[in-house]
Amino acid sequence: MGNECAVAVVTGGGRGIGRGIALELAGLGATVVVNYRSDERAADETCRQAIQRGAAAAVAIRADVADLDEGRRLVAESLAVAGRIDLWVNNAGVAPETRLDLLETTQASWDRVLAINLRGPFFLTQTVARTMIEQQAAGIAKAPQIIFITSVSSRYASVNRGEYCVSKAGLSMVAQLFAARLAGQGIRVHEVRPGLIETDMTRPARAAYEHRIREGLVPLARWGTPEDVGRAVAAIASNSLVYSTGSVIDVDGGLGLRIL
Ligand code: NAP
Repeated sequence: MGNECAVAVVTGGGRGIGRGIALELAGLGATVVVNYRSDERAADETCRQAIQRGAAAAVAIRADVADLDEGRRLVAESLAVAGRIDLWVNNAGVAPETRLDLLETTQASWDRVLAINLRGPFFLTQTVARTMIEQQAAGIAKAPQIIFITSVSSRYASVNRGEYCVSKAGLSMVAQLFAARLAGQGIRVHEVRPGLIETDMTRPARAAYEHRIREGLVPLARWGTPEDVGRAVAAIASNSLVYSTGSVIDVDGGLGLRIL
């Protein structure tokens, strides 16, 4: 990985896509900070596998990204254990607990999904950005990067989980905003936009999507894996995209293609 990305923090890194990202970054030799909210065993297992894959070190830190105080503590603790932050990956996110038609969307589900997927990452990234600017002034972590894991749902309307689509569309704009604000500081910001990825999140809808994938929904004709997303993040981490910021990297098997 080189010195450019010695330390990476992955929110929600204990399982699913976050674990896929943490392990690919581990393969680059990074120190990986694995944030989790509730599943400590999964986070410890990610750390164990990260060390096996070549991570310089791997540390699990509990924090709820929807809680702004806990978010600030996560940044401070990451710095305390790792000494610097070269890459911050905003991955933690949730789907609605129940998929409901748009006309039945509840205020409680709207508030929960928006707090975790949008409000939390916005203010967390504000703290991260300030920290990265301070690091640069101190001569460490000279070209840090920030990644937002959004979704094809930033663009596609699913009327049975509107609050999720709104949260991800908003997060895409958050990525654009931080890219614009931080370019002058030499901090690059990227959006990685996954399609249908096989994780706990998609398990309830797996059979329905299987059918649609077979019918041609995904041109590459398979589910995506956490590793697919992790490899895209690793490409960014290893400084393959040095003249890009605010870019959207689709990891969706061509789901976003318009085919005539
Ligand atoms: P997942 O398997 O359900 O895992 C969610 C992860 O987020 C877990 O590690 C969980 O931590 C963490 N998390 C949830 N709420 C949190 C909170 N308040 N604070 C800190 N961590 C929290 O989901 P996934 O499929 O890997 O999704 C990861 C990201 O990719 C999400 O942002 C999701 O929207 C996005 N995405 C997923 C897909 C897909 O098809 N799966 C497609 C596009 C985008 P605990 O284990 O501690 O609960």
